[in-house]
Amino acid sequence: MEETKDGEPRSTIKIAADGDVILVVGPKAVELRVHSLFLKVASKPFSAMLGPDWKEGDEMIGRDGPVELPLPEDKAATMELICAIIHHRNERIPSTLPALNVLEIAVTADKYDCIDALKFASQSWFCPDGHDTDDLMFLTASAYLFRNAQAFKEITKAMILSHSGPYLALSCEEVESVMSWKVFCHLEEARNSARLELADILLKGVNDPTVHCVHKCGWSSKYAYAYLKSLEGQQLWPTHLYRTSISKALESAEKMSDPVPKESSVSCTYGYKHRTPEYRRNRCWSLEQLNNSIGLCLHCVRSGSASASSCRVTH
Ligand SMILES: [Zn+2]
Ligand SMILES: [Zn+2]
Repeated sequence: MEETKDGEPRSTIKIAADGDVILVVGPKAVELRVHSLFLKVASKPFSAMLGPDWKEGDEMIGRDGPVELPLPEDKAATMELICAIIHHRNERIPSTLPALNVLEIAVTADKYDCIDALKFASQSWFCPDGHDTDDLMFLTASAYLFRNAQAFKEITKAMILSHSGPYLALSCEEVESVMSWKVFCHLEEARNSARLELADILLKGVNDPTVHCVHKCGWSSKYAYAYLKSLEGQQLWPTHLYRTSISKALESAEKMSDPVPKESSVSCTYGYKHRTPEYRRNRCWSLEQLNNSIGLCLHCVRSGSASASSCRVTH
């Protein structure tokens, strides 16, 4: 067994026990034994490095043992996982990963142009559930690099629903190095639009046609007043919506019970036509539609399109 500079024995991680290449990765020179053929098929840069025009590729010709390919700038754990996927070593691939690790894999896969080879194995890492907003930003950048439009939509939806502060505050070097700053603008714009639409749904509710009586008996106005007081009481007045997350506002809007006016009714000739409004039931569909529409389209974001009508997918 060879020794490292520290005098410790050097162990090789055998992704392929009989591989013809040993990747020597990171500052600690972790060794990964792999097959050159798998790397070459998955990645053009590796195909070039292990081809006859490069020193390592040339050394492989007619050689008895594996050749070493130093990758000092890469992270060993990240490269190990990428090699495990490329070599179909599924037992070495976790179904969940910390968000920052997912981003590190995306960055390295992008560097070696092997995003496509990791496409299916990476899908289970993009579930937005249980992540804080910092992690969601890492996953957003990862989905952006992996060109995973579905994951990008779901993760940005979680960002828009759960975060009430400025998105720029979530920016960091890891994210900025891989994703256009315009994504932050898209997130702000989408959240503002969703807040405005939510405010519109809630305020329009006051015009519920079932409560309309034209005979100046006060039936309509006493319900309208009670409804507006309910919005204020539930912190659903438009100004409040800018201080809370959309998910909390949606939850309050879904739960808000229909108001009972305190004022007594005056007699009305057409009182038999009066109907008690069902504000809650009537806004359900609009709230669901709003919830379903939230999330950024990766195709629009990547193409810089300002309008969904010019997008190559329908949404
Ligand atoms: Zn009336
Ligand atoms: Zn689009």
